[in-house]
Amino acid sequence: MSEENTPPNKDKDKRRTTTTTTTTTPTMKVNIKSWTSVATWRWIANDDNCGICRNAFDGCCTDCKMPGDDCPLVWGQCSHCFHIHCIMKWLNSQHVHQLCPMCRQEWKFKE
Ligand SMILES: [Zn+2]
Ligand SMILES: [Zn+2]
Ligand SMILES: [Zn+2]
Repeated sequence: MSEENTPPNKDKDKRRTTTTTTTTTPTMKVNIKSWTSVATWRWIANDDNCGICRNAFDGCCTDCKMPGDDCPLVWGQCSHCFHIHCIMKWLNSQHVHQLCPMCRQEWKFKE
């Protein structure tokens, strides 16, 4: 009587009965709009402030104390607006070309 210890040579195929719990997640379409609020400095449209002295147009330039007729606003052909004292001071400092300090176009007073 020969006892044969036959090792269990069978391939253990453990079948994983993975219970796939398919949780149906609702596909939320989140449209993330990259709301890039680019803080572009508004060089062109200086609607509220004088581009030279940075004072508001309803105020006066740095040389004047009281806003009003003594410190009027002037417009250029490029549609930029400045205090007259500011643009005159600026133009006097321009030796070669008289350019708008905002857009660098040739400054011409708007009629
Ligand atoms: Zn000014
Ligand atoms: Zn002024
Ligand atoms: Zn200009």
